[in-house]
Amino acid sequence: MIRSRGFIVGRMQPIHNGHLEVIKKTLEEVDEIILGIGSAQLSHSITDPFTSGERIIMLREALSENNIDSSKYYIIPLVDILMNAVWVSHVKMLTPSFEKVFSGNPLVQRLFKEENFDVIIPPLFNRTKLSGTEVRKRMINDEDWKSLVPNSVVEIIDKIDGIERIKHLSQKEISEKY
Ligand code: NAD
Repeated sequence: MIRSRGFIVGRMQPIHNGHLEVIKKTLEEVDEIILGIGSAQLSHSITDPFTSGERIIMLREALSENNIDSSKYYIIPLVDILMNAVWVSHVKMLTPSFEKVFSGNPLVQRLFKEENFDVIIPPLFNRTKLSGTEVRKRMINDEDWKSLVPNSVVEIIDKIDGIERIKHLSQKEISEKY
């Protein structure tokens, strides 16, 4: 049986309800979806607090919470490379084949278009609130971030002390006075 496959890549720092909406919408158009965990090498910074492994678990639990069967997706960590011009080949080497790319990111769109992929721009869902930047800002400022992410992601972030981590990383270095 030939299955159609779509590709989505995101840093997913962390996975939020906007990512989930895009994934659900994409699954209305293709049989299977390849979910690339972008910038997999990054962790322990304010902009990229979570490891690739932590993001894989968050994504899998969030999909399960939303009744998305594991036969429908592949989660693949993708380390960044310094050469944008050959990034699509790098992605193709690491993933099952796919025909359609779903992305709101102009660089991702551009690189796949130039390699003749079918690129689809998904609608934005409540982008002012549903963005990784907003979720991380709220985590640091003790504001409500939990309503922006699936419950399973809240549980994992609690379990790994994620809020303590991002707050610690956001502190300015304090030099001792002599
Ligand atoms: P992201 O987590 O910000 O977004 C992932 C996807 O979800 C995007 O398509 C975005 O448009 C969509 N999205 C997010 N919030 C949404 C909302 N509220 N409603 C609808 N859609 C929403 O990740 P990103 O920055 O787009 O990820 C791209 C990844 O690709 C990065 O890790 C980047 O480093 C990588 N990349 C690497 C290279 C290279 O290595 N040379 C080149 C290009 C891209």
